[in-house]
Amino acid sequence: MLPIDIVFPINEIKNQFTDSMDIELYAARLDQIHSIVSGNKLYKLHYFIEEAKACNHNTIITFGGAYSNHLVATAWYSNYHGLKSIGIIRGEKPDSLSHTLIDCMSYNMELIFIPREQYAQIDKTDYIQQLKTKYPDSTVIPEGGYHPLGAKGASLIMNQLKDSTITHICTAVGSATTLAGLLQNAEVNQKIVAVPVIKNMTDIPERLTYLHQNKQFNPPVILDNYHFGGYAKYDDNLLNFIYDFNKDHQIISDFVYTGKMFFAVMDQVKKGYFKKGSKVICLHTGGTQGNFSLPSTSIIFK
Ligand SMILES: *Cc1c(COP(=O)(O)O)cnc(C)c1O
Repeated sequence: MLPIDIVFPINEIKNQFTDSMDIELYAARLDQIHSIVSGNKLYKLHYFIEEAKACNHNTIITFGGAYSNHLVATAWYSNYHGLKSIGIIRGEKPDSLSHTLIDCMSYNMELIFIPREQYAQIDKTDYIQQLKTKYPDSTVIPEGGYHPLGAKGASLIMNQLKDSTITHICTAVGSATTLAGLLQNAEVNQKIVAVPVIKNMTDIPERLTYLHQNKQFNPPVILDNYHFGGYAKYDDNLLNFIYDFNKDHQIISDFVYTGKMFFAVMDQVKKGYFKKGSKVICLHTGGTQGNFSLPSTSIIFK
């Protein structure tokens, strides 16, 4: 059975705010599909792996930074399918590897480090062409699975959320690939609520146009005030929220993606954004392995 065929649990989040606003709030636990690999990443990878198999490729090549959830997911999922994987890593090889890269290696990923300046120019050079020449039996997956095939894979998440009593589905947004997938497969009455974790992410419409390849979709609701200063930026307010949220609801979130999404949704619940009777699903996309990049004294580990 494929990991994406696993029925993910849906847990209710009930507290004084959901009670007083008279809404139902749930977490769809894609984080429970695997302890290290982010749930949404497996969905995004699905059709790339299918393509690799259809082409008889034996190698998957992808890209990412030292803490990338996408890299470790690609390493794990390729290995699961008996495929070799190669990770092109942003930056020179450090003296000690991050826990993420060590996990990647444990799933048999070969790591190739390239300088940041070169990494930033990859799309403007023939680097990918060179890779394909060097590894002819390989499928190349863009960073974060940012591609229409990635969105198509993410759309499979909705198969388990096809309940028309659900009014809102909320997700953290990085590359917007997961968001595009949710929009593709949403019921007409369902609003998709997007929480960008990057500052000034103004290009979501253009991203969605590319990811949807001209398919029609209803625009998402974008809550763009919850990035906490930018990608992987955080403050005590966020870390305290993550700590309390876990204490109250036994749900560990991460400081890069899902912590910001849960914070945004709880804040909007308190502010009355969700009308009485709303049934709101928050996608817990995983990513908690990223918390290990925080100092070990962080409140998250208390
Ligand atoms: C990558 C990631 C996201 C964002 O997904 P995109 O498809 O890039 O927008 C959200 N949550 C977690 C845990 C992730 O790892």
